[in-house]
Amino acid sequence: MRLLVVEDDRDLNRQLVKALTQAGYAVDAAFDGEEGQFLGETEPYDAVILDLGLPKIDGASVLESWREAGRAMPVLVLTARDAWSDKVKSFDAGADDYVTKPFHIEEILARLRALVRRASGHASSDLVCGPVRVDTRSGRVLVNGEAVRLTSHEYRLMSYLMHHVGRIISRTELVEHLYDQDFDRDSNTIEVFVGRLRKKLGIDVIKTIRGLGYVLEPPTPPAA
Ligand code: CA
Repeated sequence: MRLLVVEDDRDLNRQLVKALTQAGYAVDAAFDGEEGQFLGETEPYDAVILDLGLPKIDGASVLESWREAGRAMPVLVLTARDAWSDKVKSFDAGADDYVTKPFHIEEILARLRALVRRASGHASSDLVCGPVRVDTRSGRVLVNGEAVRLTSHEYRLMSYLMHHVGRIISRTELVEHLYDQDFDRDSNTIEVFVGRLRKKLGIDVIKTIRGLGYVLEPPTPPAA
C-alpha cells in the first residue's frame, strides 16, 4: 500500500513518513499544496494524509481539485484543535476522516488501516483468503494458523494482494502501489518477490495470469 503525506511542518512530515514506513507502507511526502496536489493527481495512492493549513494552495482546495478530477482515494485530513468549521469544510470538500492536532500516531495508523480496508471493500481488519490470514493491525501473516515471517517488502506485496483477493493485478499496478516515487522501480523485481512470497507461504494461492499479472485466490479444493 502506498500513501502520500502532505504536511508543511517538516518535523511532523518526517515523523509521519517514518512511522508509516515502519508500519509497512510505501510513503511519498509533499511539503506544500502545489506539490501535494500534483502528486495526488498523478500517482495512484491507496490513501492520503492531508494537512489543511498549507502554503501555496490550502488543503481544502487541494482536496476539492482531486475530487473534481475524479481522484477517489481515501483522504484523512489533519485539522487544528477545535476548529469545527475546518472539519465541516473538509468533509464538504471530500474528506473521508479527520484527526485533530496534536495526535497520537497510533490513531493515524488505525484510521488509515480502516480507510484503506473500506476502500477495497473489507469491514474487518483480519483479511482472509482460504488458509491465509493477514492481521493488518499487527502485520502478522498466518498460513493454517502458523506465522510466516516476511520482509517489509514481502508484507507490502502480501497486504496489497490480500486487499484485492480475486482481482487480477498487473505488475505495473504492483510497482505503483508497493514503492515510493524515489525507489528505483523495476517490474522484474516483482517477479522475484512473488517467487519468494510463494515459497514462504508454501501453498498455491498466488496465481500467475499470463500476460496480465497475478491473482490471489484460495487454493482449489481437491476434486471429490
Ligand atoms: Ca500546516
